[in-house]
Amino acid sequence: MKSKLVLSFNPEASNLPITHNLIAKHGLLVNILRAEIDEVGGKMVIEVSGKPEGIKEGIGYLKESGVGVRPIKEGVRRDDEVCTHCGACVSVCPTKALTVDPETKKIVFNEEKCVACGVCIDACPPRAMEILI
Ligand code: SF4
Ligand code: SF4
Repeated sequence: MKSKLVLSFNPEASNLPITHNLIAKHGLLVNILRAEIDEVGGKMVIEVSGKPEGIKEGIGYLKESGVGVRPIKEGVRRDDEVCTHCGACVSVCPTKALTVDPETKKIVFNEEKCVACGVCIDACPPRAMEILI
């Protein structure tokens, strides 16, 4: 089972070895998709893989540690009414989920390839990309 989670850290929680504990104590594989965190707090997007009970216990551990946890249920979407096809998101997407159609020169969003890292959200000038949680 896999689950994508948005984690919010306050100053107390920002120094905790949470990825180590999720791996060592709850038997999970942890893939960090995005991290903007320092000693005063921040956010992290992770994908955890493991047994359902391990994920449930891991989420419980995070909450008990003061970490905000929000599951990403639907990933990332693009608002096609807002997208100007400027192309600013193409080079920053690590999975090539955003590409230029060679014929139309429009930007194509392939949701199958998106890992919800969120990098395109900051890169998009008109804020056409949004994370669904
Ligand atoms: S950066 Fe935003 S507006 Fe530009 S192509 Fe990508 S999604 Fe569209
Ligand atoms: S969130 Fe954006 S940058 Fe990240 S994989 Fe999906 S489309 Fe690419």
